[in-house]
Amino acid sequence: MRILLVEDDTLLGDGVRVGLKQAGFAIDWVQDGLAAKLALETEPYALMVLDIGLPKLSGLDVLKWLRERHLNVPVLILTARDTVADRVAGLNAGADDYLIKPFDLDELIARLNALLRRSAGQVALILQHGEIELTPSTHQVSKNGQAIELSAREFTLLHELLLHVGRVQSREQLEQHLYGWGEEVESNSVEVHIHHLRKKLGVELIRTLRGVGYVIDKVDGKS
Ligand code: CA
Repeated sequence: MRILLVEDDTLLGDGVRVGLKQAGFAIDWVQDGLAAKLALETEPYALMVLDIGLPKLSGLDVLKWLRERHLNVPVLILTARDTVADRVAGLNAGADDYLIKPFDLDELIARLNALLRRSAGQVALILQHGEIELTPSTHQVSKNGQAIELSAREFTLLHELLLHVGRVQSREQLEQHLYGWGEEVESNSVEVHIHHLRKKLGVELIRTLRGVGYVIDKVDGKS
């Protein structure tokens, strides 16, 4: 999952960036409203975490611009305490959720996972596919009830494929969920992670369409 983080407070921004990266998200971090617009124009994001008080262009203006263009990336806004007006204006401008600073990193991750589920049209707290279960909130995966250990990137890939069962995704699309800006993309990394996922979860789970991409097929006509 690739997330755009817009936050001008370097201490807070760096803490969130590190925490979300550890949770398996790919993060691009920008520190003003104009850079946020540029990023949104050039990269597809699964989510945006948006501070309201920003240099150059406020978070509210970024949000209004985004929604006027009918870009429906889910947005969680960050607001200072005692600024009810900001929160209301943010929600009215099309924010999907908000957190008040200071906030707990675990709560941010839980809320982001909830937004991802909603945007993918999933209401279940657990993604189930045949014998395999994936719980986004706890980062747990099991097969036939047996816990399976996955790396953060393996988890991210499996999560992305399970959110879109039946839809083929190219290697480039999947790579975008694994790496933020400035992170070196290891060659063949998607292939390597898929290989590990197959070893851990069964070779039949993920299907390769040579030259096209990867897909997890529907089970018995349902997901
Ligand atoms: Ca700020």
